[in-house]
Amino acid sequence: MKAGIITIGTEILIGSILDTNSKYLSEKLSELGVHVSHQLSIRDDFKELSIEIRDMIKKVDVLFLCGGLGPTEDDMTKEALADVLNKNLVLDDVQYTKLVDRFNKLKRPMTSNNKKQAYVIEGSKILDNKWGTAPGEIIEYGNKKVFLFPGPPKEFEPMVDYYLKDNIAENNEIIVKSLNIAGLGESSVEETIRHLKLENNEISINTFAHFYDTEIKIIAEGTDKEHLVYQVREIVEKLHITFGEHLYSENNTKPKEVLVKKLTEKNLKISFAESITGGLLSSKLTSVNGASKILKNSVVSYSNESKHKILGVSNSTLEEFGAVSEQTALEMAKGLYNLGLCDIAVATTGEAGPISSEKEVGTVFICYYYKDFYEIKEHFFKGSRNEIQERVSDTVITHLLL
Ligand code: ATP
Ligand code: MG
Repeated sequence: MKAGIITIGTEILIGSILDTNSKYLSEKLSELGVHVSHQLSIRDDFKELSIEIRDMIKKVDVLFLCGGLGPTEDDMTKEALADVLNKNLVLDDVQYTKLVDRFNKLKRPMTSNNKKQAYVIEGSKILDNKWGTAPGEIIEYGNKKVFLFPGPPKEFEPMVDYYLKDNIAENNEIIVKSLNIAGLGESSVEETIRHLKLENNEISINTFAHFYDTEIKIIAEGTDKEHLVYQVREIVEKLHITFGEHLYSENNTKPKEVLVKKLTEKNLKISFAESITGGLLSSKLTSVNGASKILKNSVVSYSNESKHKILGVSNSTLEEFGAVSEQTALEMAKGLYNLGLCDIAVATTGEAGPISSEKEVGTVFICYYYKDFYEIKEHFFKGSRNEIQERVSDTVITHLLL
């Protein structure tokens, strides 16, 4: 199913407001598996609006017109749509009574242009607006649908939340499933699933690269729900076999949430000795509900004195190899582990920049210290201070998941 979005308002085109409605609606539509093929913003101009509606309605199955339903002269979305569809605008008694009541309550006179908001396109389904005055509408046109939504985001967003899902695909089932892959880049994931895409050409299987993982999004559309569920389940099973441990989560659950769950299930405690991440790792994990079961202690160890006095890193290591080194990372993790408050100790040390002191900016050493063994990873990250810190902490979290 293809959707088109037209946002209406001169303010968008002269740059005085940002079109957040398209973003909001596109996100909701893609969650529902509807493919947005066109987006357009247009100024408040009857002629231009009619031309664009006429053109876009040919290209899509469902068209959204957002904004321009208000009482003023420049609001003419309904008028333009009625013109294109060759329909009349009729006064809706329920909406009119609602408007009159509202003005009575506000003790304000109702002007004739206010009455305009109670006019709807004949034969439309009215979407009552509980968040403002102008109602939304759905108009069936052949096998296509046109949605009208008011423009102000504080009305638009709740209206989308309230009416979109139940009205978008009445005779059409859509199943959307996301699988999250860590530790492999998007291009390698894409290559691995290429044969599945070819075998299932009526189902869309696409990859999306995120900061810390690659998402495989499966969208199946049709009328036979049971068959769709079966097909999607088969694909998901195949992907689990293909990616094994790398497939760490479904439906975009955040890696930190999966990690807390996994450690809780295994009854493992974790501690962080954080130099370059400055507490970010502990902060990420403690933002997850239930983190107290798996995290008892962390140390933000930002100076050599702290690394030595609290974690027991030897002065000779710090002098000989420097704070940003494999040896320091190892001694930090070991010192933390020896405090006896965890089963896994992770130490981070590196150069966050922008000016390098010891090693090149972006050089990072991470030590993972377990009961019987340890591993030290050297990384090189690009970006600003904050980006490097984010990358280090995400790398640790996804590494611990695999
Ligand atoms: P009104 O009665 O306020 O005129 P309306 O349904 O006609 O309501 P618009 O005129 O399109 O809505 O928009 C009213 C206000 O809502 C705009 O001035 C703007 O601040 C905001 N708005 C409209 N469209 C968007 C959009 N696409 N993204 C973000 N804000 C928007
Ligand atoms: Mg307006």
